[in-house]
Amino acid sequence: MPGKSGPFRCPGCKKATWGDLKHCPHCGQSLVIECSSCGAAWRYLYDYKFCPSCGTKVEMGKAVGKGA
Ligand SMILES: [Zn+2]
Ligand SMILES: [Zn+2]
Repeated sequence: MPGKSGPFRCPGCKKATWGDLKHCPHCGQSLVIECSSCGAAWRYLYDYKFCPSCGTKVEMGKAVGKGA
């Protein structure tokens, strides 16, 4: 089984990717979540429900998109 830095699923295409990428190599989906409140960013890998910086609740659909 993968360790804490092992593969995880892209929020866009659900294919396996891994923690040192900023974008999915399969579909280009950003793997970085950005807080809309304070601007803190972290990898989707961590699957946080709340911003680790300011505590604002994070919607997982809000991965930083391309141009959106
Ligand atoms: Zn993908
Ligand atoms: Zn925040």
